[in-house]
Amino acid sequence: MWRASILTIFPDVFPGPLGASLAGKALAAGVWSLDVVDIRDFAADKHRTVDDTPAGGGPGMVMKADVLARAIDATATDSRPRLLLSPRGAPLTQARVEGLAGGSGLVLVCGRFEGVDERVIAARSLEEVSIGDYVLSGGEIAAMALIDACVRLLPGVMGAPVSGAEESFADGLLEYPQYTRPQLWDGRPIPEILTSGDHAKIAAWRRAEAERLTRERRPDLWAAFLRRFRSGSRTG
Ligand code: SAM
Repeated sequence: MWRASILTIFPDVFPGPLGASLAGKALAAGVWSLDVVDIRDFAADKHRTVDDTPAGGGPGMVMKADVLARAIDATATDSRPRLLLSPRGAPLTQARVEGLAGGSGLVLVCGRFEGVDERVIAARSLEEVSIGDYVLSGGEIAAMALIDACVRLLPGVMGAPVSGAEESFADGLLEYPQYTRPQLWDGRPIPEILTSGDHAKIAAWRRAEAERLTRERRPDLWAAFLRRFRSGSRTG
């Protein structure tokens, strides 16, 4: 079973949205498991202190290395990757999500305050992962996003296996536009080709739309796609 262990000072927010829909059903069915560890349980004082003022001064508080290390040592007793949610981390990608979903699970550390004492990141080999170039108040929402992205890829979680293969990023492209009935809504028809029944033409239209949207919206992805395509045609 794929196991997610989350270290947080807000254990009550889990499973939150992970308890609903596909992820929630899969959790109830035992496809994956979730252990939530309260970092405060590893504090050494009666106030259950997990933070202290930053060395060198400055605003805010920093999560203490000793308390967090005890929480990690009690939780990460196997070979699962240990990730620290952090805006300084490597940006999360679908390729990384696929890699994580293909393993045995993960241990996630949710930061709070100004962040985490640098020494525990090094001493416990935490890999920093970011869910985007913006700053959240804490790692919990980022942890939920990461777990949700992984869990939907676990075998048996999504309805049809093909639904993951055709999604945004699967081929380095954004997904083509989707439509459903009614055929005419608000004066806007569904593109005729999608109701033609000609599967080859539909596939070609979808591919062209995926390429157009990627070119228009994500020049970074489009450039990477072209590089891969060109090197593939040279070698192939
Ligand atoms: N002072 C830190 C900085 O400037 O990099 C920001 C700390 S933030 C207020 C508190 C915690 O939220 C972080 O330790 C991290 O766990 C989480 N967090 C914030 N933004 C994130 C992001 N983009 N991706 C992943 N985690 C994030």
